[in-house]
Amino acid sequence: MTAPRTNLLDFDLAGLQGFFAGLGEKPFRATQLLKWIYQEGVTDFAAMTNLSKALRARLAEECEIRGPEVAQDQQSSDGSRKWLFRLDDGNCIETVFIPEKDRGTLCVSSQVGCALNCTFCSTAQQGFNRNLTTAEIIGQAWLANRLLAPHYGGERAVTNVVMMGMGEPLLNLDAVIPAMRIMLDDNAYGLSKRRVTLSTSGVLPGLEQLSAQCDVALAVSLHAPNDELRNELVPLNRKYPIHELLEACWRYVDLEGRRRVTFEYVLLDGVNDSDAHARELVKLLRNKPAKVNLIPFNPFPRTRYTRSSDARINRFFEILVQAGITTITRRTRGDDIAAACGQLAGDFQDRTQRRIRRMDLHKGEQVA
Ligand code: SAH
Repeated sequence: MTAPRTNLLDFDLAGLQGFFAGLGEKPFRATQLLKWIYQEGVTDFAAMTNLSKALRARLAEECEIRGPEVAQDQQSSDGSRKWLFRLDDGNCIETVFIPEKDRGTLCVSSQVGCALNCTFCSTAQQGFNRNLTTAEIIGQAWLANRLLAPHYGGERAVTNVVMMGMGEPLLNLDAVIPAMRIMLDDNAYGLSKRRVTLSTSGVLPGLEQLSAQCDVALAVSLHAPNDELRNELVPLNRKYPIHELLEACWRYVDLEGRRRVTFEYVLLDGVNDSDAHARELVKLLRNKPAKVNLIPFNPFPRTRYTRSSDARINRFFEILVQAGITTITRRTRGDDIAAACGQLAGDFQDRTQRRIRRMDLHKGEQVA
C-alpha cells in the first residue's frame, strides 16, 4: 500500500519550514510554496518553476494540494453563496460567501457540528462530530477563491474571513491557529488582522491561548446581559460567566494595536429584546472598547424562537446608540438559501452514524 500523500494545505509557514527541513531543503522553500499555493493558485508541482526538478518530482510523488469537494452550491438572490463542502470522511460542512460593494466576506466553519448546544443555533441540533483539520479550514477559503475567481477577473474574491460558520473555533485552536496564520501571512493571503475575525461563545482558556499566539479581531457571542438568561441561551456561560468573559475581553484588547471587541447579540422575540435588557447591556459595555452587532434571529425548522419585530430591533438599537455604544444591526443575507447566521446545519444524512457528543460543562471536556 502506498503511504497517504501529505496535504500541504495542512501547514502554515512554520509547519512548511519544518516539513522542508525534513526533506533536507532550505526554509525559503516554504515561502515559495505558500506563494504558489495561495497567490498563484497552482496545484501542479511541475509548474512550480523556481523549485529544483528533483524537489518538484519528490513533491509530486509524496504530496498534494487538495481542498474539500463541492457537494452543493446555492446562490441567493442577493448574491451570497452557500456551499456544502464534502470532506474525505464523507462529513459535510457549510461555507458562506457574502459579497458587498467593497469586500467579500467568507464565513468559515471550524468543526463538524458543535458541542456547545446554544438553544437558538441550528448547528447545535446536530451535536458535535469532530474537529476540522487545518487543511479543511484553510481549504474552505482556498476553494472559495478558486470557485469565485472566474467572476472576479481571476483575482481573489475573499477579502475578509469570519470564523462564524459551524463549530466553536476556540475548541479547535490547534487547527484554527495555523489556518488563520495562513490567512494573515503576506506570502499567502496577506489579510490584515482586522479582516480576520474569530467568533466565540467564550471559551476562556482558548481566548488566552489565542491572544498569545495569533493576532486577529475578536467577536463574542453574548446574546444576554445577565448570567441567568445567558446560562439558558449559551449553556457554556455556566462555566465561564459574563463578568469573567468581559474581563478576558478587555485583556484581549489591551494588547497593542487591538481595537474593540464586537459583541454579537441575537434578538429573540420576548426573550432577550426588552428595553430593560438593552439598558442592562449598556451597563456592561458603556465606556468599554466594545461595539455591538445586533443580529435578527434567523429561524430554522423546529426552533422555539421567533425574530423580534423591526420596531423592537430599532428600539433596542436606539437605547444602545443613545448610550454612546457603537452598534450595527446586521442585515440578513442569504435568507432564501438558509445561509444566514446560525442556519448552517450541515448535511444530516449520515446523522445516525454520528457519535453525538456534548460538552460536559462541569468538567469542560468533550465526553462521548
Ligand atoms: N461558536 C462561535 C461561532 C459560530 S456562531 C460563536 O458562538 O460565536 C456565529 C454567530 O451566529 C454567533 O454569534 C451565533 O450566536 C450566531 N447565531 C447562531 N444561531 C443563530 C440564529 N439562529 N440566528 C442568528 N444568529 C445566530
